[in-house]
Amino acid sequence: MKTLFAKSVPGRKGVCLNEPQLKAADVLPKSMMRQSPAQLPELSELDVVRHFTRLSHLNYSVDGNFYPLGSCTMKYNPKFIEQAAALPGFTRLHPLMAQLKGAGHFTQGALAVMYDLESLLCEITGMAAYTLHPMAGAHGELTGAMLIAAYHADKGNTNKTKVIIPDSAHGTNPASAHLAGFDIVSIESRDGMVDPEALREALDDDVAAVMLTCPNTLGLFEKHLPEIVEMIHEKDALLYYDGANMNAIMGKMRVGDAGFDVVHLNLHKTFATPHGGGGPGSGPVGVSPRLKPYLPVSRVKKLEDGRFVLDYDHPKSIGYMAPFYGNFGVYLKAYAYILRLGGAGLTRASENAVLAANYIRARVSSLLEVPHNDICKHEFVCSVVGDELNGVRALDVGKALLDKGFHAPTVYFPLIVPECLMIEPTETESKSTLDDFVDALAEIIETAKTDPESVKHAPVTLPVTRLDETRAARSMELTDDV
Ligand SMILES: *Cc1c(COP(=O)(O)O)cnc(C)c1O
Repeated sequence: MKTLFAKSVPGRKGVCLNEPQLKAADVLPKSMMRQSPAQLPELSELDVVRHFTRLSHLNYSVDGNFYPLGSCTMKYNPKFIEQAAALPGFTRLHPLMAQLKGAGHFTQGALAVMYDLESLLCEITGMAAYTLHPMAGAHGELTGAMLIAAYHADKGNTNKTKVIIPDSAHGTNPASAHLAGFDIVSIESRDGMVDPEALREALDDDVAAVMLTCPNTLGLFEKHLPEIVEMIHEKDALLYYDGANMNAIMGKMRVGDAGFDVVHLNLHKTFATPHGGGGPGSGPVGVSPRLKPYLPVSRVKKLEDGRFVLDYDHPKSIGYMAPFYGNFGVYLKAYAYILRLGGAGLTRASENAVLAANYIRARVSSLLEVPHNDICKHEFVCSVVGDELNGVRALDVGKALLDKGFHAPTVYFPLIVPECLMIEPTETESKSTLDDFVDALAEIIETAKTDPESVKHAPVTLPVTRLDETRAARSMELTDDV
């Protein structure tokens, strides 16, 4: 596909403006006038519309097709949330307006949304308070880990240098805890669960916290949760809940009630909001009462007369975690989504996400090995192994699915299952879409048995086919010829 510059035709116009009454030369100093015309493509409106429409069709998106990307939760995002986020009363606010003398009344609606959203998240997860600042899940983890460090430092627990993370946790957990200054202790899971014995062994007085991803990366809910919580609290260690995938849990279990001290949510996974390609995201962090004093500033405070203000008076706060207040547009979308669904709707969303994942799991288990073939939550992991597959790997199956119009599942994660596909259908897909997906997968497995080479060369129908990934990275050749 040519670029707009290559499509330029001299003299072609998209918009015809009236002769200006005031010439630039009459008002601008000569030194500021351009000497030669701007090198812009000359195109009609239709050229531009078709160019960008075609480009958008080269992109795979959840608005176009099924996107079962495990852990990333690429669910359909209802369009009404975009309307909420586009309301001019919000989009025309400047982030500094809240501090501008005399402009406070313009920001009351925005602050009310933030305050309400924090309360709703407290209600959904049973935590005492939230900060909305973190701008992604991993950023929420870092914030949580810093809160844990601040808590122990404040209590004088200087020995608390380690964080235990099971091998079934999300990959960002160790990185975030390390960035907050902790040493990481990894423990092996048993039967897809945290092994209480392994935990007991690793749990010494130096442990500041344990970070659990629940449901874990195998899509399984931790069976030994009460025992684990008790063990950790006995050591004056804190419990971190990676709640990025709350879409399996909402309305079923409250993290705070279960005894956790910190949780982060991914608004951009569980509470609508299109994401991918690096953003925008939001990873609010909820805390138990004992961690509240350390939350980032500013905090939204409701005054007795009902007005909202930004409050910076928190001397033990870990400080700023984001410019201004985080990704405000994402809050609006999550807020609209939560209000529209209500408590019963969120619970049903969880139930449908779990039902859809288990439906696919049951069908896939006759095609591929499912290592922990037990009732899963929002996702499950299967393994592309077996002599009959003639060396066809998870990567090949993922690529072959692209040819059949489906986005590939997450591949090669979690690391504890070889050649794995991590499949997350989400709650919004119909049974017929789920069936079409499994049928496509079944066809690919069948082809692997009879004509493995064709699977190994997929995709053949997409603008970009199989790349030599190493060569592509080392000797990049940029082209617009797709
Ligand atoms: C996606 C995810 C994260 C990281 O979230 P980002 O917004 O991508 O930083 C952390 N934990 C789990 C379980 C996740 O699924």
